[in-house]
Amino acid sequence: MQQNELKDPFGRIVDYVRISVTDRCDFRCVYCMSEQMTFLPKKELLTLEEIMVVCDSFIELGTKKIRLTGGEPLVRRDIIYLIKHLGAHVKSGNLEEITITTNGSQLYKFSDHLFEAGVRRINVSIDTLEAEKFMQITRWGKLDVVLKGLFAAKKAGLKIKLNTVALRGINDNELASILKWAGEHDFDMTIIEVMPMGDIGSENRLDQYISVSEIQQNLLKQFNLIESRHQTPGPARYFEVAETGQRLGFITPLTHNFCESCNRVRMTCTGQLYLCLGQDENANLALALRSGGKDALKAAIIEAISRKPLGHDFMIERGASNQAVSRHMSVTGG
Ligand code: SAM
Ligand code: SF4
Repeated sequence: MQQNELKDPFGRIVDYVRISVTDRCDFRCVYCMSEQMTFLPKKELLTLEEIMVVCDSFIELGTKKIRLTGGEPLVRRDIIYLIKHLGAHVKSGNLEEITITTNGSQLYKFSDHLFEAGVRRINVSIDTLEAEKFMQITRWGKLDVVLKGLFAAKKAGLKIKLNTVALRGINDNELASILKWAGEHDFDMTIIEVMPMGDIGSENRLDQYISVSEIQQNLLKQFNLIESRHQTPGPARYFEVAETGQRLGFITPLTHNFCESCNRVRMTCTGQLYLCLGQDENANLALALRSGGKDALKAAIIEAISRKPLGHDFMIERGASNQAVSRHMSVTGG
């Protein structure tokens, strides 16, 4: 295993990189993008080969975990080649884990390939188990296709965590039954607060927003939630659900500050490295790689980490604006 060379000014070791492989998506979730979303011209995206060089560089600098996200990572053409490349690093012990966050729409095709490539855990975003509502939230998604994919993934041997964004008046009264269903199928679950990222057209995030503490109070009426010893450097707080034996996480970027233990950075599909989800501090890795090759790229990564900000201050309740950070979650990767 490589020595980690990526320590930020606050002494935090950065060993986790999230990479958005495309800004495109086959869904149009109401909290994530507007229905008339304009995507980047394809030529602006890093090629898969370039993404491989970026990943190799991070791994050589000590990165232990890579998550592929998007947009929808599994709609990027030939994505499985990148996943196999990263899986080979896991098999050789250079990387601890390769994971994916997906909307599940392609899992019925890809699950076996993902497992063979070395993926063992995936996050699947699913906000409701009601077909009509699923269409209302995702605009273009079909629940039955996602469920088919979810069970194909389980059968392939992948450990699944559901990501559920809590939406007031839409799925807040369904969260308990999703949690119970998750328990029956051996899926962990994380409930996420809506974050103010990117223009979402006519939808209003203040209407969508419900705090995780309110949700937790509601769930406590039906479930015994025991604070879990499993804590990660990320924004989630974990509980064991006594009734189901599954793990439940809450992500509360708006109401709690989780920055002290932050160990991650994010790269967009155009090769911009963002050092904090809620700040604009970034580095142009595409330019470094294309102008100076891998050595210049590695130097740019090290320099960028030396500028990682201490934290962020999202202000959904206080700000007049709907959007604290102008880029979409689908650009930075969730
Ligand atoms: N398309 C994939 C998916 O939906 O899982 C991966 C990308 S998506 C941007 C990653 C995660 O971010 C998803 O779980 C999604 O629900 C969440 N997300 C997107 N926009 C969000 C927002 N404004 N606030 C909170 N979570 C958001
Ligand atoms: Fe697509 Fe994921 Fe955004 Fe939904 S949350 S629109 S699935 S990128």
